[in-house]
This record gives sequence, structure tokens and C-alpha cells, in this order.
Amino acid sequence: MGTLLLVHAHPDDEAISTGGVMMKAKAHGHRVVNITATRGEAGEIYNMDEAASRPRLGEIRTDELKTAGEILGVDRQEFLGYRDSGMVDTPDNKDPRSFHQADLGEAAGRLAVLMREERPDVVVTYAEDGVYGHPDHIKAHFVTNAALDMLEREGLPAKKLYYTAIPRSGMEEFMKQMPEEARRMQNPNMRFAGTPDEAPGLRGARQPKRSELVVCDDGKPDLRAGFRYRVFPARSRQSGPRAARTGPLRGDPLSSLS
Ligand SMILES: [Zn+2]
Repeated sequence: MGTLLLVHAHPDDEAISTGGVMMKAKAHGHRVVNITATRGEAGEIYNMDEAASRPRLGEIRTDELKTAGEILGVDRQEFLGYRDSGMVDTPDNKDPRSFHQADLGEAAGRLAVLMREERPDVVVTYAEDGVYGHPDHIKAHFVTNAALDMLEREGLPAKKLYYTAIPRSGMEEFMKQMPEEARRMQNPNMRFAGTPDEAPGLRGARQPKRSELVVCDDGKPDLRAGFRYRVFPARSRQSGPRAARTGPLRGDPLSSLS
């Protein structure tokens, strides 16, 4: 049995981007640990009364996360204890309690405590672009890497680190098919670039043991089901996905969980 540890920013990210790999890991008898940095207090509300639910949105989303965890097979759920930083360029970004404002070393230290307890084989977090530029997703990327650096220095390296990403072609299709109304409501500062299709892996392997490339689904965006994420390993935790360039996708994300 191995341990899969995921670092997410908000409740719902675990289901949206990594639900498949979590369920698969669980079905194969592995331990699944989900760490969520915030309780999603600044999330956009579309399906509930804003005035009634806003003051307790963190609580509502914590309950939703608990339910999602039961379905996805989460063995342990933890929070890093920060506040949702909101979408890019919103006033919530400046809240001193926000994950975005958190000191990198301090946040990495909180995560490292959990990693030392769990000694994960495989760690999953966002690519450097935060999928669509959300400050908390980007922060999770850097905090996870900093925590892994701490563990490595202590002689406790994780076997592999994977990033979630959406292929650029899938993102472009999704944007094209987005209803006009949704397009208008969109925050103009959000960046929906996607990860280049031809470059889902990363160049400049610092640690070849993390080099295996992986796709968690068929890799083809299915627009009827919304866009799909790919999970790919970080060849170099220093260079990030923009430096990406490597060969064909292959392998299985769970192959390091033994
Ligand atoms: Zn999120």
C-alpha cells in the first residue's frame, strides 16, 4: 500500500481536478490524504442565496468537502488553515489571513508537518500556472514544492510529484463553447491559457526518478462532461510547466504506489 497526498487550494478542487485519480488510488487499496489550504470562503455563489450563505460559506464548503471525501475515498482530510484569497485582482487577495499573503516558508512548514506524518509516495498539486491563474492554486504549487524541498533535506523525499493541468486545445474548445452569458460574467484577469498539448511534461530533469509521464484519463477533452484535467509529473520542480518539453505521454499515475 502506498500513500497518495494531494495539496489543493479550495474545497471542490479535489473533485474537479483529481477525483478520478483519488478514487482509483483508493480502489487499488492505497491511502488517500487530501490537504486543502483554505475553506473557500471567497468562492463565487451561483446556486444558493448570497446574503444567507456568504457569511458561512467556509462552513458550507467544509461540509461539502467532507461529503466529497467520503465518495472519493479520502482517508485523512486536513486544512492548512488559511483564508481563500479570491480570484486574481480582487480585494480578498490583500487579506492578511489569505493563503496568497502567507509567508512561503511558514505555509510550507505547516504542510511539511503533515508530510512527515504521512511520508507520501506520490504528491499531486497544481502546475505553476494554477490552471487558470487563481492565486491560491499558484501558491499551493510553490508551497508544495517548498515543503518537498524541506523533506528532501531531511532525507525523506516523496517518490514522485505530479501537477494537474488542462491541455491547451481542450481549454480553447471549452472557451469557444462557453455560453455568452458566462463569458460576460468572467473575471477579465483570469488567465485560461492551458498547458501546451505538445509539452505536458517538463524539461531539465533534476530528479529522473520523477520523470515518468502520466495521463489520468484518455487525454481527450470531452466537452459534454466539461473539460478534463491531465495529471503529469514534474520532472523539475524548479523550472515549472512553462519550461515543459518532452516526449509522449505514458505510464500510470499509480505506478509509484506500491
Ligand atoms: Zn480552487
